[in-house]
Amino acid sequence: MPTSQTNAAQNAGTPRWLQTRSEEQGAADARSLFQQVYGYEPAGVWSAPGRVNLIGEHVDYADGISLPFALSQRTYVAAAKNDDGVYRVASRFGDPVEIVHFEIPVAEVGPGNPANWAGYAVGAIWAATEAGLMPAGGLNLAIESDVPVGAGLSSSAALECSAALAAFDLYGGATLDDAVRNGLMGASIRAENEVVGASTGGLDQRISLFGQAGHALAIDFAEDSATQVPFDIAGRGLAILIMNTNAPHQLNDGQYAARRAVIDGVTADLGVSSLRFAEEAEDASVGWAKANDVDPVEVAARVRHVVSEIARTAEAIKQVSAGDMEAFGRSMQGSHASLRDDYEVTVPELDTAVDVAMAQGALGARMTGGGFGGSAIALLREDQVEATATAVAEAFAEKGFNEPEFVVALPSDGAHRNA
Ligand code: ADP
Ligand code: MG
Repeated sequence: MPTSQTNAAQNAGTPRWLQTRSEEQGAADARSLFQQVYGYEPAGVWSAPGRVNLIGEHVDYADGISLPFALSQRTYVAAAKNDDGVYRVASRFGDPVEIVHFEIPVAEVGPGNPANWAGYAVGAIWAATEAGLMPAGGLNLAIESDVPVGAGLSSSAALECSAALAAFDLYGGATLDDAVRNGLMGASIRAENEVVGASTGGLDQRISLFGQAGHALAIDFAEDSATQVPFDIAGRGLAILIMNTNAPHQLNDGQYAARRAVIDGVTADLGVSSLRFAEEAEDASVGWAKANDVDPVEVAARVRHVVSEIARTAEAIKQVSAGDMEAFGRSMQGSHASLRDDYEVTVPELDTAVDVAMAQGALGARMTGGGFGGSAIALLREDQVEATATAVAEAFAEKGFNEPEFVVALPSDGAHRNA
């Protein structure tokens, strides 16, 4: 069961570790939830992972480059067809954890409906049928997840991709190959953007479907391509520590949209497909800023983040490929500073986690995901993991922040059938 509930009063500075089920256990739990809710056995269980992004943040919607990997924390969907023409969804989640239910006629799913938690699942299934991947039809779904919700680790994409894959297997029946993965990716992105109405650039869905154990995925959004990059940190005695800040949820939808509006506006104004292809993008952004009556210094800083982050990520992919983890750690540092100072999407909790991890001797640390809360990651020696988590937990307690939680991230496989 996910242990993402927060209780600031209990924050005594001892690190709390996130419990993660084995895939066998996660699948078995989803199966028994299905049995409990619907009273019969599911046809199968499918799962898809959350992710961390190593570097290349807030550049997916700017046709940039990112380097995420898939987590061993997954969302498990037990499913079976029904003849009732409805989607029934049950999920054990929330704070406190409980079984929540939702039901909607298949024909009623579409843009803006349902715009709730179930919209991620049935929206992705709807979009996959719209894309012609499989015929539409009723489904009963039961969901168990180990991906912390709203922690910047992409529980939303894990839910979309696992549900869409379950429906595809049950109604499509064809083999899961890269063409199908691409189709399910597009459907999952469409669900998030159009059904739920949350803006996503597509990084999360791609890694949730294309992740491979032991690898990170170098994604080039301009080329719409991705390359597996071996990421064997354990072999070097290193680890990636995820530090979920559990920072209180902020009204970040407007902030994400605001950042995006600036980047989209300047990109269109300069007549390029991506700022990475613009000459002197930072200087050139002044014209757009003035025309739109926004602070040119702020706009230049936003542009500087996107341009520098794309260049940094291109370098970082070379550093990882060459096994130069010290240099890669410095790239992570540069990324965090840019997100903090130029893009202004960090919060004190994220900056504290990063600063404390660095003070403990990490090679690099940075926020990961959209920011405004969520998680930070640190690249460190395996023997530094425990002490770093303790130091971060103590710093959070001292500052009166919510209790953070920790997990060591292992590059894992993308969406697949479990049982
Ligand atoms: P993140 O993807 O970083 O975890 P989002 O805000 O994008 O955060 O997505 C979180 C939302 O996705 C939740 O508020 C909920 O609506 C939905 N969600 C994620 N996981 C589950 C789950 N296991 N069961 C039900 N809804 C879920
Ligand atoms: Mg999400």
